[in-house]
Amino acid sequence: MTLELQGIGVSRGIAIGRAHILFHNQPDVREYLIPAFSIEQEVDRLKHATEQARDQLLAIRNHIPANAPTDVSSFIDTHLLMLNDSSLSSVPIDMIRSRRCNAEWALQLQRDALINVFNEMDDPYLRTRQDDVDHVVNRIHRILADEHVADHEIPDGRLKDHIIIAEDLTPADTVLMQHQGIAGFVTEHGGATSHTTILARSLGIPAIVGVESVRRYIQDNEPLIIDGESGIVLAGSDGSVVTEYRKKLIDFRAHIASLSRYKTQPTKTKDEKAIKLLANAELPEDISLISNAGAEGIGLYRTEFLYMNRATPPEEEEQLAAYRDVVESIDGPVTIRTFDLGADKTVDGGRHHGPTVNNPALGLRAIRLCLGQPAMFRTQLRAILRASAFGKVKVMFPMVSNQQELAQARNQLESCKKELDREGIDYDHHIQVGVMIEIPASAVCAEMFARQVDFLSIGTNDLIQYTLAIDRVDDQVNYLYDPLHPAVLRLIHMTLLAGKKHDTEVSMCGEMAGDPRLTRLLLAMGLNNFSMHPNAILEIKQIINETNLTELPRETLTILNMDNPFEAECLIETINSYD
Ligand code: PEP
Ligand code: MG
Repeated sequence: MTLELQGIGVSRGIAIGRAHILFHNQPDVREYLIPAFSIEQEVDRLKHATEQARDQLLAIRNHIPANAPTDVSSFIDTHLLMLNDSSLSSVPIDMIRSRRCNAEWALQLQRDALINVFNEMDDPYLRTRQDDVDHVVNRIHRILADEHVADHEIPDGRLKDHIIIAEDLTPADTVLMQHQGIAGFVTEHGGATSHTTILARSLGIPAIVGVESVRRYIQDNEPLIIDGESGIVLAGSDGSVVTEYRKKLIDFRAHIASLSRYKTQPTKTKDEKAIKLLANAELPEDISLISNAGAEGIGLYRTEFLYMNRATPPEEEEQLAAYRDVVESIDGPVTIRTFDLGADKTVDGGRHHGPTVNNPALGLRAIRLCLGQPAMFRTQLRAILRASAFGKVKVMFPMVSNQQELAQARNQLESCKKELDREGIDYDHHIQVGVMIEIPASAVCAEMFARQVDFLSIGTNDLIQYTLAIDRVDDQVNYLYDPLHPAVLRLIHMTLLAGKKHDTEVSMCGEMAGDPRLTRLLLAMGLNNFSMHPNAILEIKQIINETNLTELPRETLTILNMDNPFEAECLIETINSYD
């Protein structure tokens, strides 16, 4: 019998494969190689986790009531003894050094070896002690999983062609899994514009979010079909359904292939208005995708990947190498956005530092975080400036909310320029500076920014989040996510008008720019600079090239005043359906 579950399709494509369920309380142990220079760091990680496990057990023992049966505390004592025993305290460390493997894997190997020994024992009581081994090892694994990443992970390929089923995934998980060749993923939580989702789209991984309790309905290794457009998850499908979806998969691939004819065509409407199509880059791997997609440059280079899956911040030289690589491989300008860390873009793969905040999206993120950490910010600014000596680079500040922030960011940039001058290091002295318009306050005051910068870029993901007060990663309020809300559209329109008035270039780099349903509306509103994930470029180009702006229905812009979402949807249908 087929089981059908419905979620929100957030990254198009069909995936057919077996389920791999991730449970947070049973950490998924993977093997990866540790580079020689990080071995001692990995050893310390294991030692630290073991110490933490010991502290946890001691704390538990201290909380055992005095009148509790002695068995209870002896149970904890046994675990403490195991932790101190060399089989767990030093053998895994030797393995990390000899095999150059990660701490989790060394621990897992040692766990398997110990379980085998217990299994061979005749004494049934001693055989049951294998549970204790598992408890202790799981405790350390869980502690390691909290900080669960290390530099330069090399995946083992075990997840290849599987569909990952998880409560939620971090952007870092998504990147690692893509390296493992996963076919798709389904999560219980997440929103259409969360960073994880954006990554899935740009990596071309079919993905569905918001499938409540999916891990209860799907069995590990069960054959699955997912449709990343309709948001449907199918388990236990019979042969005819599988055949139907295989055909859909072939059609989808054929559709993508048919778009390739647009690659070399210029982007302009039928009435000859030239439009710029730029790409958003998330990861170094995107670069070849971008070159193939026919983008005229990069409108948003998200630099957060440099911080993902690692414990130490990237140095200037490492950043320079990454930026230079992009600048030298792409024809056209590269707009490098300074670190937009915080909220769902975790600083170091999810490790938590500092106080827990109630509203991370409203907290210390993006430019706020950078201005508060000048050393980190300046390192990046220097690297960006130095990269500008190798090609056309623009620098863009995220989440700017007032003039003071812009002034402070600019001061840092100017001071880095002077520093480079003193050091005799080359850079583009006329590097263009822009801000992202992604906070309603900045959209309302877009004119002020337009007067002061070389370009504006509308970040609709955050603009929608902050305008409609919906956390972009909270599936419970996903239903309120509405790019056609008149407040959102008016803020976009205001920004476009501000740019026009001050002759300042305005682009859009949020997900709305790559949504084919909205292309004609955005063109009608005056947008002529779109930046999107490379997978969307050719489809959007097709729409632009088939649009005659002078023939768009006159009432198109009445959408800015429509208080009825249904009417707005109908108008979009009308705009999109004429030839
Ligand atoms: C946006 O907010 O629209 C945007 C492009 O930035 P990010 O999604 O990286 O926050
Ligand atoms: Mg943003």
